[in-house]
Amino acid sequence: MPERAPILAANWKMHKTVSETEEFLDEFLGNVPDGPEVVICPPFLALGAAVARCADGPVRVAAQNMHEEAEGAFTGEVSAPMLLELGVDGVILGHSERRQYFAESDEALARKVPVALDAGLEPILCVGENEAQRDSDETEGILTRQIEADLANVGEERLGDVVIAYEPIWAIGTGRTATPEQAQEAIALIRGLVEARSGEAAAAIRVLYGGSVKPDNAGELLSQPDVDGALVGGASLDPGDFAAIIDAAR
Ligand code: PEP
Repeated sequence: MPERAPILAANWKMHKTVSETEEFLDEFLGNVPDGPEVVICPPFLALGAAVARCADGPVRVAAQNMHEEAEGAFTGEVSAPMLLELGVDGVILGHSERRQYFAESDEALARKVPVALDAGLEPILCVGENEAQRDSDETEGILTRQIEADLANVGEERLGDVVIAYEPIWAIGTGRTATPEQAQEAIALIRGLVEARSGEAAAAIRVLYGGSVKPDNAGELLSQPDVDGALVGGASLDPGDFAAIIDAAR
């Protein structure tokens, strides 16, 4: 069974200008706890500054979205080759805010995930149910549909290279966290869905939890056997809080 290195990814959403990104990294980079992989996902405009500050260090930089075409008439969009040229090495795909506010569909994600992999960008694919779906016991069906659809065009040999973030929508930015048991149960289900396609990929794939992770709840969430790290929103905006969350993953 391969050892899965934990990943702590910071989703800054539409927060931090270029100078605020530099200020954060000037403080954070000197205090990053050793061990887990750390990924910072700033807004597009701050990616270049983040790559420059993180050059030659262990912290990686990822984008928050990407179009599946390499170029074309897609106003406002950014492609994999553009991200690669900047030195970015990953991309969040299918965040619930993109699904909810920007009509990101499973069909689009089925195209984006293999494009990211082929380009050499590590995709962090977000899935998760909303509150009404959880309350009506639809969590399993929603996760099954999203995983099957979004990874439909990824071959078995590349499945283990995808990073999945289980992010229950009712826990994002609400201060309401999934219990460690809820996170473990959903993430084990996701790993089982991957296992149905490839046992090897299921053993290798990193599945993160996301949703109101804070320094004081990170330890319990991250100690669950199938939880391979966290995608952190609000608490990743503060260098001290994010470093404390990384520390909890060690
Ligand atoms: C997120 O947006 O991916 C997220 C998990 O946000 P928060 O930690 O603020 O709930």
